[in-house]
Amino acid sequence: MTRRGQAFRPFYGGGRRTIVAIFVTFALIGGLSAGLSLSATERSKNRATVLQVADRQRTLAERYVKEVLLAHAGRQADPASTASILASSAHALLDGGTAPAVNGDDDESTLAAASGTVLRNQFEQESRLVNDMTANGEAVLSQRPASTLPATAHEHTANLDPIQRLRVLAALTSNVSLNAGRTIARSTDQNVSRLIIMQVALGIGGLAVSLLLAWALLATTRRQTAHFRSLAQSSHDLVVVLGAGGCRYVSRSVAALVGRPESELFGRGFEQLVHDDDRDILEAVRTNGEPAELSLRIRNASGEWRHLDAHATDLRADRHLRGVVLNARDTTDRVRLEQELTAQARRDSFGSKLSEALEMADEEDSVCEVVERAMVETSQETPMELLLADSSRANLKRAATSPSAGAPGCPVKSPFSCVAVRRGSAVVFDSSEVLNACPKLRDRPGGPCSAVCVPVSFMGRSLGVLHTTGPDGAPLAGEEVARLTTLAAQTGARIGTVRAFEKTQLQASTDALTGLGNRRTLEKQLRGIVKGGDPFAIAIADLDKFKQLNDAHGHETGDRALRLFAQVTQEVLRDHDLIARWGGEEFVVVLPQLDRFQAVIVLDRIRRNLAKAHPGETPRFTVSFGVTDSTQAESVEQLMTIADHGLYAAKQAGRDRTTIGEPSTDPPRSTTVMDDPEGATPVRRARPSLHEAVDDEDPHPSGLEIR
Ligand code: GH3
Ligand code: MG
Ligand code: MG
Repeated sequence: MTRRGQAFRPFYGGGRRTIVAIFVTFALIGGLSAGLSLSATERSKNRATVLQVADRQRTLAERYVKEVLLAHAGRQADPASTASILASSAHALLDGGTAPAVNGDDDESTLAAASGTVLRNQFEQESRLVNDMTANGEAVLSQRPASTLPATAHEHTANLDPIQRLRVLAALTSNVSLNAGRTIARSTDQNVSRLIIMQVALGIGGLAVSLLLAWALLATTRRQTAHFRSLAQSSHDLVVVLGAGGCRYVSRSVAALVGRPESELFGRGFEQLVHDDDRDILEAVRTNGEPAELSLRIRNASGEWRHLDAHATDLRADRHLRGVVLNARDTTDRVRLEQELTAQARRDSFGSKLSEALEMADEEDSVCEVVERAMVETSQETPMELLLADSSRANLKRAATSPSAGAPGCPVKSPFSCVAVRRGSAVVFDSSEVLNACPKLRDRPGGPCSAVCVPVSFMGRSLGVLHTTGPDGAPLAGEEVARLTTLAAQTGARIGTVRAFEKTQLQASTDALTGLGNRRTLEKQLRGIVKGGDPFAIAIADLDKFKQLNDAHGHETGDRALRLFAQVTQEVLRDHDLIARWGGEEFVVVLPQLDRFQAVIVLDRIRRNLAKAHPGETPRFTVSFGVTDSTQAESVEQLMTIADHGLYAAKQAGRDRTTIGEPSTDPPRSTTVMDDPEGATPVRRARPSLHEAVDDEDPHPSGLEIR
C-alpha cells in the first residue's frame, strides 16, 4: 500500500507482503484454534479418566465395606488391597499420579493434579474419608473400638458402631466421589462452552483480520493496476497485443492514431487497417513472434497512411498474456522527411542533369530533343507533349513528343486558351469528366483521362505548355509533377535563352532595312563555301544614280527602292545562293556552282525582273553588276576587286548592265562610283577591304584563300 505523499512506485511489491500477512494470520488463528482444541481434548481425556477413577472410588468403597464384612465374618477377602487402591486413587485424584489398576476391571491410569478449589476440596474430603474409612475397616477387623478412631473428614459418626460407621463412611466417600464427578462434568461443560466461544471469537477475529488484509491487497492491486493503466494509456507508445484470434488489446494511443474506437480494432480489425504489403509480416509476427523489429503502414480514418516502427515481444508462453506484444512508434513525419529529401535529391539530380543537357543544346530543335529524353526519364508510360508558341505567340505547335508513350494530342490552339498558361502554374486534373476539368480534355479518342499541364515561360512571358495525360482518376504523382515542373521551368529558360540569342544573332547578322544578311554574314557564309572548295561566281551590285533618287523623292523612297531590289533579287536566286547588303546601295551576290558566264544570265534576270516590278510609289530604277568567278583569282579579296572592276566598267558603259570583271595586273581598284550629279562619270572611292570585315571575327583571313 502506498501512503499519501509517498513516492509513486509502480513496481512496489506491497501486495506480496499483504498476502504473506493473510497467510500468517490464518496460520496463527488455525494454530491457536488447533492448540485450543488439542488442549481441550487433552483436558477432556484427563477429566474422563478422573471421572472414571472418581466413579471407581464409589464402587471400591462399597467393595471395601463388603470385603471388610466378609473378612470380619471369617470369609476369604482382601480389604487391605482395596484400601490401598482407594488411598492411591484418592491421592492421584487430588495431586496427580498413578491410579492403580483394579484386577479384572480397570487398567492403571495416570492422572493430573485436580484443579479448581471446589474439586480439590472435594478430593481432599474424599481422601480424608478414604483414610477414615480404611482406619475404621482395620478397626472392625482388629475388633478395636471405633470411638478412638480419628474423624479427619469431620464426620459425625462417634455414636455409631464400627460397622455402621464403616457403611456411613463408604457412603460419604461414594457421595463425595459423585459430587466430584458432578463438579468435573460441570467444569467440562463450561470448558466446552468456553472453547466454542473462543473458537467462534478466533474465527470472527481471523475473518476480520483476513478481510482487512484482503481489502488492503485489493486496494494495492487496484492502485497498481491503475498505475500501470495510466502508464500504458498516457504513454505515446502504441501498444498492440496480437493473439491467436487477432488483435486482443490496443492502447488508447493506437485508437487515437487510427481515429477509431478500440473495439473496432479487436480481432481482425487492426489487421484490416494495415497496408496490404505489410500484412504478411504482421501475420508472421502474430504466429511466430518474429521478426522482432518491423515497419508497418496503417491507414487512419481520413485514409492517410501512417508509418510505424514496431518492436515485437513474444509473450505467447506467458500465461497472463498468451500473445505477441507490439510496441510501436509513429514515424510518419520522419519517413515523410526522408522521402521528401530523397525525392528532392532525385529532383536535384534530374534537374542538374537536365540543366547540363540543355546547356549543350544551342538550338531550339536540340532543346526539344533533350526535352523528349527527359520526358522518358520522367515517365515511360505517360503520353507527353511540349507545345510551343511560334514567333507570333498566337499559335501553339507540338515541338516535342514522348518517344516512349506518344503525344496526348491536346487540341489547344493558342497559349492563352490553355488554363495552365493563364494561371501561370501547373494544373492537375484528376478526371476529364468532372465539372471543373479542362474542356479540352473531354471527348478525347482514348476516352476519359486525367491530365497534368505545366506552363512553359521565360521571364514571365508564356512560351507554351507541357501537357501529359494519364488514366482517368489517377493523375501523375506529386514527384512526377515536380519533375514536370522542373522540366517546364528549365525548358522555358533554355528556349527563351536560345530564342533571345537567335534574335540577337539575327539582328547582328541581318540588315534591318532589307532583311538580307549583312556583310559579316556573307563573309562567314563565303568562308564556308571557300572551305568546301566548290566553284562559285561572285557579283557586286550597285543601284544606279541612287543619290539622285534620294534627292528627288526622299530618303524613305530610297529605302523602299532598296527593299524592292532585295525582294526581286531573292525571288530570282536559288535557295543556296547568297545575297547580302554590302553597304549603302551596294549588294554582293554569290552563286555557288556557277561560273561568271552563267552568273551573267542570272544577274540579267534580276535586272529584267526589277524593270518589270511594280514598285508602287517608288520611281523605276536600275542596277549595275560587276561579276567574276572563283577561277579568276586566289582569294576572295582579289575576286571582289575583279568584280569591282566589272562594276566600274558597267557604270562607265552607261549603267543598267552586267559586266564581267577582268583580272588586272594593276593593284586592285577598291573603288566605286561616287558623287556624280550627272551620273555619267563614275568616281572612285575607298571600299572597306574584306580583311577589315573578316578581322572582326576571324584572326586568320587566310581562311578566305580559295586555293
Ligand atoms: P551611280 O549610278 O554612279 O552609282 O550613282 P549614285 O548616285 O548611285 O552614286 P553613289 O553610289 O555614290 O550614291 C550612293 C547614295 O546612296 C548615297 C546615299 O545617299 C544613298 N544611300 C546610301 N545608303 C542609303 C540608305 O540606306 N537609304 C537611302 N535612302 N539612301 C542611301
Ligand atoms: Mg554606290
Ligand atoms: Mg550607285
